[in-house]
Amino acid sequence: MATTTTTTNGAAAAANVSRRDHVVIFPFMAKGHTLPLLHFATALTAHHKTLHVTVLTTPANRAFAAGRLPPSVSLVELPFPSLPPLPAGVESTDALPCPSLYPIFLRATALLREPFAEYLASLPSPPLALVSDFFLGFTRAAAADAGVRRVVFHGMSCFSMAVCKALIVNPEAAAAAAGGGVEPGGGGAPFPVPGMPEHVGITADEVPDALVKFADAEDPVTRFLVDDVGFSDVLSWGVLVNSFAALDEAYVAPLESFYQMPGARAWLVGPLFLAAAGDTSELEEEEQEHDPDGCLAWLDDAQPGSVVYVSFGTQAHISNAQLDEIAHGLVQSGHRFLWAVRSDTWTPPAKVGPNGRVVRGWVPQRRVLAHRAVGGFVSHCGWNSVMECLAAGKPILAWPMIAEQHLNARHAANILGVGVRIDTKPGGMAAAGDVVGRAEVEEKVRALMDAEGQAGKKMRKGAAWAQREAMSAVGEGGASRVALRELVDELQRTYGDVVVDEGKIM
Ligand code: UDP
Repeated sequence: MATTTTTTNGAAAAANVSRRDHVVIFPFMAKGHTLPLLHFATALTAHHKTLHVTVLTTPANRAFAAGRLPPSVSLVELPFPSLPPLPAGVESTDALPCPSLYPIFLRATALLREPFAEYLASLPSPPLALVSDFFLGFTRAAAADAGVRRVVFHGMSCFSMAVCKALIVNPEAAAAAAGGGVEPGGGGAPFPVPGMPEHVGITADEVPDALVKFADAEDPVTRFLVDDVGFSDVLSWGVLVNSFAALDEAYVAPLESFYQMPGARAWLVGPLFLAAAGDTSELEEEEQEHDPDGCLAWLDDAQPGSVVYVSFGTQAHISNAQLDEIAHGLVQSGHRFLWAVRSDTWTPPAKVGPNGRVVRGWVPQRRVLAHRAVGGFVSHCGWNSVMECLAAGKPILAWPMIAEQHLNARHAANILGVGVRIDTKPGGMAAAGDVVGRAEVEEKVRALMDAEGQAGKKMRKGAAWAQREAMSAVGEGGASRVALRELVDELQRTYGDVVVDEGKIM
């Protein structure tokens, strides 16, 4: 496949820069993975003005990236591989017409190996580093061949990554818990996770679906993780984490223990959307444009703390029966609500009423959460959503569905104490026939929005603490700001000391 690279966004690309001040960033094609790396690109150029940053994208993702990057960041487009039955033009997980196409989507992204290697080979000298999503496992060997260090990014917290890795290398811990008396909806008693601090216990229901299936060599996602991601993650030079010390410090050492390159460490530089804020007047204007349904104007008319914001992210497919129950539960709660719905086949029950606003376009979520009218967030607990909620100082009603979202729910609601939870199972609402009823939705929304009760006050106090910590982490002298500077310094100090890739495996 021929590499067609197109440069946009700025002059740096024209010079085809490639030296110790050039950073190449390659995000995975899912909104929750791409957005934080766009923010990372913005933060790098905002705080390290001598760096040249290139973001790799594909044709159908280019406009999304271009609209969220400052002109100083270059965009290079690689052709998205064709792999039937994946429909042409589906280049991002949120565009998948059904979840069953996910494995083939992953396989298609692995075919980017050749154009990526050609791109690296076209550079006059090795860039300072490649920051690559872990799903793009092929980038490690290609980068090593080109003499480039690879910093890996997962889009997850240290807590969730460390738990997942611990369960992969200690499958008996997860298996023992799964066999240890799981109550319907309750998930059984929490069990300790090897290598994690004592206060960490998770239930069998919180074990991510991909790990439950990990022993099944026939499972297509397992096959992809083994064949295409393999050991490239743990052989990376370092790990970029969109989190901050106050949330995740206790889990940094357990996470780092899985990485094999000498001195490999986790760099906590988040929340990245706040770290990017050095360059934001332009970005804020763009966010305004990204409000096609006028959500912010609608919120302007509401009383402070009176609106529940509801979103289940860009990936979960939710049944119509479940959407109906959510609609009734929200209405019965008596609170105003703003609800971002992905399904374009579902019609809300007529009696959603004047208190409810259902939107189907892009919602400027970070600004919605920060709006004074929003009093709480009903969320699937994608890690970005959790951090955005905490940075806004709002409590969360955790309704996890897929991936590591159950672990994020435990982290936010049980460990940090900033939320309440819906009782779910792995697969949750995504699983056919597993519907949470309207009465539970109503009860939990009321609990979320009760700012005066003891539990509500405690959650809000925790959320206000997290907000202060998030702001101070990215401010001058804050832990995330310092880590970003140290990361760049360390990469520049050791430029040229490229570690020989011995293809070592655990
Ligand atoms: N997002 C947004 N508006 C939308 C849909 C999504 O701003 O209409 C953003 C959201 O703020 C978050 C990201 O997309 O930053 C979704 O990532 P998350 O990890 O929360 O969930 P995922 O979609 O990956 O499940």
